[in-house]
Amino acid sequence: MSYVTGLKCIHCDREYRTNQVDYYCPACGYQDGILDVVYDYDAVAKELNPAAMAKQGERSMWRYLPLLPIEEPSLIPHLQVGWTPLYSAPRLAGELGVSHCWVKDEGRNPTASFKDRASSVGVVKALENKATRITCASTGNAASSLAGFSAAAGLPATIFVPQRAPEAKVAQLLVYGAQVFSVQGSYDQAWELCMEASAEFGWYNRNCAINPYLIEGKKTVSLELAEQFAALTPGSFPDWVVVSVGDGCTIGGVWKGLWEMHRLGFIPRLPKVLGVQAQGCKPFLTAWEEDGCLVPGEADTVADSIAVGHPRNFCKGMRGVTESGGAFVAVPDEDILGAITVLARKAGVFGEPAGVAGVAGVRRAVKLGIIAPEESVAIIVTGNGLKDIQSAIRAGGQPITVKPDLAEVRKAVAANRGHH
Ligand SMILES: [Zn+2]
Repeated sequence: MSYVTGLKCIHCDREYRTNQVDYYCPACGYQDGILDVVYDYDAVAKELNPAAMAKQGERSMWRYLPLLPIEEPSLIPHLQVGWTPLYSAPRLAGELGVSHCWVKDEGRNPTASFKDRASSVGVVKALENKATRITCASTGNAASSLAGFSAAAGLPATIFVPQRAPEAKVAQLLVYGAQVFSVQGSYDQAWELCMEASAEFGWYNRNCAINPYLIEGKKTVSLELAEQFAALTPGSFPDWVVVSVGDGCTIGGVWKGLWEMHRLGFIPRLPKVLGVQAQGCKPFLTAWEEDGCLVPGEADTVADSIAVGHPRNFCKGMRGVTESGGAFVAVPDEDILGAITVLARKAGVFGEPAGVAGVAGVRRAVKLGIIAPEESVAIIVTGNGLKDIQSAIRAGGQPITVKPDLAEVRKAVAANRGHH
């Protein structure tokens, strides 16, 4: 039993009962007719309020069950997902030129990325639907995450990844036993192929943009942020919440979760949302700066998780930034690689390129005057650095090679004095 009252099309406002449609609004089609899960918030508030949550012992995203579209909690897989740490990072704040900085380390999830929040919900919905197989297309992390959660649930998975997906992510898929198609094409082409295969074979479709339930898992990162800030700094909340943007689902979920926690009385005011894209792939920024319309474009960036030229959840992604009074920025690959070491050295958190893009984005937004020096930021680091070791090596440099001889170490230490 959930508090979901229905599904509402974000394009035409038509409402549906949950058993009426599978994924998207039939009147608008999958390009436009993305559905939003609607709740009875008055009923939710009786269970999910600050006093009740103070006594809630569950240390995972399932502590927010009243705000999730789950009908059968007994089907939830056993892997612990969510309730990731929120760190105060004063040295990083100094480096970026803001008053305070917090880092939410999503690399601490079971398959080392933020996507676990969505995959766990997807797997439960597939099981509730008595599906025999689940599928998705992914730039990497959603895929490895789905593979992990379907393995945990004993549900077969078929996954489509573009050829450029980093080896470590593909290795994760294969280790978890998923059937993997490495598509000789872009992520956009892998996505279309997955849609066709899902329709042909009747597989449950985990693609976040068209499956309205996935974003509900993603929003839990904001539910946690709200509660964790209430504990850290009662009565206040950061001015900005920062996250990298690919398809638009993550930032859309982040915004929905913030809105809900404000509605339920956990946070005093809504923050602005900063969406960070890569310079080589910035359809959201372009649309936001121009007429608000999506023009699919190139996807050329080292940050594979946000290399999405044709965002599939454009409306929800835009809404997060526009409704919050926030902004989009884009950062070049060299800044993203630089942010890997900045985050690691100033805050002790090792993120993958898309995971640290938010760090580079804050620096850029400060430079552009979008974020003021007296403002505070919370950065969501969406994936662990070990996910993409090639980029990490490019960012981190090479070790000092020596023979097993102290004299060589002595010489190297003397030569490096002043560098480290
Ligand atoms: Zn519609």
